[in-house]
Amino acid sequence: MSKIGFIGLGIMGKPMVRNLRKAGHELVVYDIFTKSIDEVVGEGIERGASAKDVAARTALVITMLPDGPEVEQAVLGPGGVLEGVHAGSIVVDMSSISPLVSQKMAAACKEKGVAFLDAPVSGGEPKAVDGTLAIMVGGDADTFSKVEPILKLMGSSVVLTGGVGAGNVTKLANQIIVACNIAGMSEALVLADRCGVDSEVVFNAIKGGLAGSTVLNAKAPMVIARNFKPGFRIRLHQKDLRNALLTAESKKVALPLTSLVQQMLMALMNRGSGDLDHSAIFTFIEEMAPKSES
Ligand code: NAD
Repeated sequence: MSKIGFIGLGIMGKPMVRNLRKAGHELVVYDIFTKSIDEVVGEGIERGASAKDVAARTALVITMLPDGPEVEQAVLGPGGVLEGVHAGSIVVDMSSISPLVSQKMAAACKEKGVAFLDAPVSGGEPKAVDGTLAIMVGGDADTFSKVEPILKLMGSSVVLTGGVGAGNVTKLANQIIVACNIAGMSEALVLADRCGVDSEVVFNAIKGGLAGSTVLNAKAPMVIARNFKPGFRIRLHQKDLRNALLTAESKKVALPLTSLVQQMLMALMNRGSGDLDHSAIFTFIEEMAPKSES
């Protein structure tokens, strides 16, 4: 098995690296935050000096970074992947970024004879730890078939959704549905409460009907318990909806609901709630209602 390069050892990257190692792969890893490298290096996992160094020592480089600017810095920037990479290598970016940036990365990689896939994930830290992420891939079928067995070590669902950028388009679709769902659920639960109907009773009464959803089952209990421990942070979801709106603008597509919820997330960040779970959208809606009588 050849060595795998991995750049970005945050909440998601660290467990993903550990799962690749558990399956027997040797790795070279890098993060700008040196402490994160210290946490994972050891038997079979080597320290990279830079993104360039990681690329020079491997034929497959995976990136798991916050957003497009960080991916651009790690891949195109000074000391970045493209300075060290070999023709014939593959770069797989698993960050959730704008599909437009994925396409820019793919074009820059192609000039060096390097294949590129975008492969964002859904599932969060618990599924990154379990190796059961849902992975949505964009790129050509030939490159996908080479990388699919590696991706399956990190995810239980690995789907090729189209050409480069399609993975991130799919991820944006996912994020729009989840955010709007949480906002709708919040309005429903605030209304029920102010009408004097218990939120838990409402949840139990409707969860088996058409309004039922995975989002409702996961987030209504958190709202009812006022438990906004992340989960998925407000600031990450704000970033995803911003990327959705930028992508939509490039295609002249209007997304009124996404735009509204993105503004709610921005307001929540500005009042210091950026690191709460995205179910805290509820608090934004609740504050617009008169105080509860109970
Ligand atoms: P994180 O902020 O915990 O980790 C990102 C890591 O990248 C950090 O360790 C940071 O030091 C490193 N980094 C930043 N710029 C760098 C650079 N130029 N070179 C090298 N390293 C650099 O983020 P995360 O929660 O692991 O998320 C990563 C991606 O996965 C994001 O795009 C996020 O939206 C997506 N995602 C996260 C979750 C989740 O629940 N956390 C779920 C699904 C998808």
